[in-house]
Amino acid sequence: MASEKKEAPELVCAHCGTSSELTPILKYVHQGEEKNVCVHCLPMLIHG
Ligand SMILES: [Zn+2]
Repeated sequence: MASEKKEAPELVCAHCGTSSELTPILKYVHQGEEKNVCVHCLPMLIHG
């Protein structure tokens, strides 16, 4: 078995689906649920 250890697992933006390979992605918690959002979608979250 090839065990591949990733120190930083690839995250996917919950809003636009981009991956952390392409765009920095942040984790946040909303209503008790942990979600990921990329820096492009973050402003939309902030401004509602
Ligand atoms: Zn996004």
